[in-house]
Amino acid sequence: MRLILLGAPGAGKGTQADIVAEKYNIPQISTGAILREAMAAKTPLGIKVEEIIKAGSLVPDEDVVAIVRERLLQPDCRNGFILDGFPRTIPQAKALDQMLSEMGIAIDKVVSIEVGDEDIICRLSGRRVCQKCGATFHTAYKPSQKGDACDRCGDSLIVRKDDQEDVIRQRLEVYHQQTAPLKDYYAAQNKLRLVMGQEDLADTTALMEKALQD
Ligand code: AMP
Repeated sequence: MRLILLGAPGAGKGTQADIVAEKYNIPQISTGAILREAMAAKTPLGIKVEEIIKAGSLVPDEDVVAIVRERLLQPDCRNGFILDGFPRTIPQAKALDQMLSEMGIAIDKVVSIEVGDEDIICRLSGRRVCQKCGATFHTAYKPSQKGDACDRCGDSLIVRKDDQEDVIRQRLEVYHQQTAPLKDYYAAQNKLRLVMGQEDLADTTALMEKALQD
């Protein structure tokens, strides 16, 4: 299964990608996570993108396309993959189509998780992330049993810089302007499925499963 997950930041792409990755035993490829790792390791790419990410803007297409190209060539992607957070612009989608056709493969389905902007703001402003292991929590919906510490590894939970409310609004604007048009792009290829993502996790997961099977 070769899958793309679309949706506004905070729509639940990462959570659903985790579930699908485990169920189908395929890797989840999150460009956001790869970029955050590069930032933490202070690689040249990490240093270059730090301010862009903190401001809620998009990293240049050529940088993320290069990341995805390298990742898709890894042997664990042979039986499929889930792209979470890529593509985010039409040029990225065209570059992906081109690279997949060179590899002799194609995307099977594109699922867009739909959540309204106000719900997104509420979700993201309550999100807490473990700075060590990357586990995510929510102050209201999925609190850590250990308060400000991570349930999984015990390290401290932080608010991502780009989860501050003004940055969230900027990320939503970028999403509506640059990423939402991808729905038409993939609808034209007859690959798009919409999943309502504002319900609770189990409902969204069930809808997701249906979308993958139809
Ligand atoms: P995410 O964790 O997917 O919300 O990504 C966090 C940030 O990384 C985004 O707000 C962008 O600044 C950057 N980023 C991640 N994926 C992409 C992409 N495909 N194109 C451009 N920027 C990206």
